[in-house]
Amino acid sequence: APTAPIYPTENPTISKLLMDEMKADNIMNNLNTLTSRPHIAGREQEEIVLVDWIKQQWTEAGIDSIVVHPYEVLLSYPKQNDSNYVSIKLANGTEIEQSQRKELVIDEEQNDPNVVDPFNAYSPPGEPEGELVYVNYATIEDFIALNRTHNISTVDKICISRYGSIFRGDKAIHAELYGCIGLILYSDPLDYTVPWSEVYPKDWFLPPTGAQRGSLLVDDGDPRTPNYPSISSAWHKSDSSLTLPKIPITPIGYIDAIKYLSKIGGPEVPTAWKGGMNITYRFGPGFAGDHVNSSMKMSVKTTNQVATIRNVIGYIRGGVEPDRYVLLGNHRDAWVFGAIDPSSGTATLMEIVRGFGAMLKRGWRPRRTLVFCSWGAEEYGLIGSTEWVEELQKELRARAVAYLNVDIAVEGNYSLAVDGVASLSQAVFDAAKSVPNPNPSEVSSGRPTLYDTWKFRFPASVGDKPSYHGLSSGSDYTAFLQIIGISSVDLRYTYDESIGLASYPVYHSVYETFELVENLVDPGFKIHLAMTQVWAELARKLADVLILPVDCRLYASDLAQKRDVLYQQYGSKMETHGIEFSQLNDSILIFTTSANSIHERIASIDSTNAYETRMINDQLMQLERAFIDQNPLPGRVSYRHVISAPNQHDTYGSTAFPAVVDAMFDIDNDPDQAGRWDEVRRQYSILVFHILSAAATLNPTV
Ligand code: GLU
Ligand code: CA
Ligand code: ZN
Ligand code: ZN
Repeated sequence: APTAPIYPTENPTISKLLMDEMKADNIMNNLNTLTSRPHIAGREQEEIVLVDWIKQQWTEAGIDSIVVHPYEVLLSYPKQNDSNYVSIKLANGTEIEQSQRKELVIDEEQNDPNVVDPFNAYSPPGEPEGELVYVNYATIEDFIALNRTHNISTVDKICISRYGSIFRGDKAIHAELYGCIGLILYSDPLDYTVPWSEVYPKDWFLPPTGAQRGSLLVDDGDPRTPNYPSISSAWHKSDSSLTLPKIPITPIGYIDAIKYLSKIGGPEVPTAWKGGMNITYRFGPGFAGDHVNSSMKMSVKTTNQVATIRNVIGYIRGGVEPDRYVLLGNHRDAWVFGAIDPSSGTATLMEIVRGFGAMLKRGWRPRRTLVFCSWGAEEYGLIGSTEWVEELQKELRARAVAYLNVDIAVEGNYSLAVDGVASLSQAVFDAAKSVPNPNPSEVSSGRPTLYDTWKFRFPASVGDKPSYHGLSSGSDYTAFLQIIGISSVDLRYTYDESIGLASYPVYHSVYETFELVENLVDPGFKIHLAMTQVWAELARKLADVLILPVDCRLYASDLAQKRDVLYQQYGSKMETHGIEFSQLNDSILIFTTSANSIHERIASIDSTNAYETRMINDQLMQLERAFIDQNPLPGRVSYRHVISAPNQHDTYGSTAFPAVVDAMFDIDNDPDQAGRWDEVRRQYSILVFHILSAAATLNPTV
């Protein structure tokens, strides 16, 4: 092992050297390599070719060690040469208006035989037939409205839902819960195009045949090994006991959706349910006019298959505290070419590793260990990262300082956007302040840094700051934060959300190509470079500064804000059932006092006393861990964080005080009023206990 050189506790020049070392052209070349062929999880390009390329690049960069962690896991694919489609079946049995099995080839490279046609992972195969019902976004509220307000049953129907608003896996759960026998997901032009612009390849909006692939898995990780790693000794659940969708589900583009939705009968939908096609949106059930006797048919051939996935983990050993880890992670697998998701992130991670390697070659070494993670099979349900966290959980709980995720690095040219734990917001702001603005017109408008544009374009609702929210799920930070309580952050550069897109338009389609990024998203790769700089600078700071940049006071004010939101939503109702909000208020006051006191101790710390600094740093590092319950939250398989969790009806959404809020959901309609309120009181007491015990971890020893 290399010997630790002597260096100052924080080298002020290293930040600038590192930022200057990294180059836009290298990121562009990385992206070109990564997107040259489709690289779906479990197939050769992803698991062999790209894994080898990353190992070779990281070896050349000169980092200390590289470990590949393979896992055998359950994946899912459509049938080659017999891909999924939907159609209208006439009374005489003839099928008409079949949907496209493939997205239209626009550029020659999309002709690649390794392109996997549109499908939703973990759908069972099947050929259901029935009446069609339009269910809007298939949220829980949409189904409640269908049943309670519009008196439309979806039992034994085929439902068609537009993409957007919530995670598609929750749409699948809702459809199944409400008795549907099949679910068609489509991209409505209202959510993926704008009236004033052309579509790909002229602009970046979704063309009519574009279809969004994507997983339906809601419980993360290999479905066969919940809570434990899929290593060679693993026990596996039997196929029949897996929690996977039971009804066939597949995606289509709006070129096809209009054929079915234009023929549907029944009453007109309310305004909020109308999409952007030039038709009258109706609920159904079933078709009207010439097609009253026709039915909707689905032909889904998607099946599950066991495959090997790989995480590539690279290390730069810390010179002073090698047993403290700062982790940077990004997934490598893509549905097709993945030029935005995730390869924009992978291209930047590769340049960061090269940059840190160059600093090592100059004799620099971080105080703490840097860990670079290239995850496999994120798209299927955060599988690589979840299995790895499950495998290394004891080591990570003892040693991990923070996990910094970049999935998509650049999905637009509007602003930086960051979500994360409250205690790291100031560290993120500081990193963003040190990165030059990649947008020249922003600079000439008096906003010289990434931070300035972020604050200008996404201002926080209170305070003179950029917006910064808690994490939900949808990318690889989930296992770190929700299962083992590692402080986490997720960064990306995004588009202007006010134009009403459900995501960047070509998300998970075959049109996510290198050319799209090079010509339309980030010509010159300046934004990619800025993302490389902010991610690297945040990691460097966490790895290098003597006292960890974790601010417990921000955690305290975040708790108070969450308390206010809970009170607004449910306060009076909870109080009439004997719940005393003073208990939650008092626990947050006690936490606030402890948070203030640890920062007073930091202000007067003897920085030459290694025991003292290590003691404080351990308290800061462990703060997030204190909010992890020993049991999973009710109804969840592995999430244990009592302060925030993915929303129970939308994995992409975030719920504060999840066990309490989940217990309150639709409580008035529960026939077991006494039982439900007792559950609310139980969860409330667990929450108060955790805040008090977390406060205690911040106090000085006796
Ligand atoms: N990022 C992937 C998606 O949004 C996977 C998310 C998940 O499985 O939670 O489709
Ligand atoms: Ca597992
Ligand atoms: Zn992704
Ligand atoms: Zn994705």
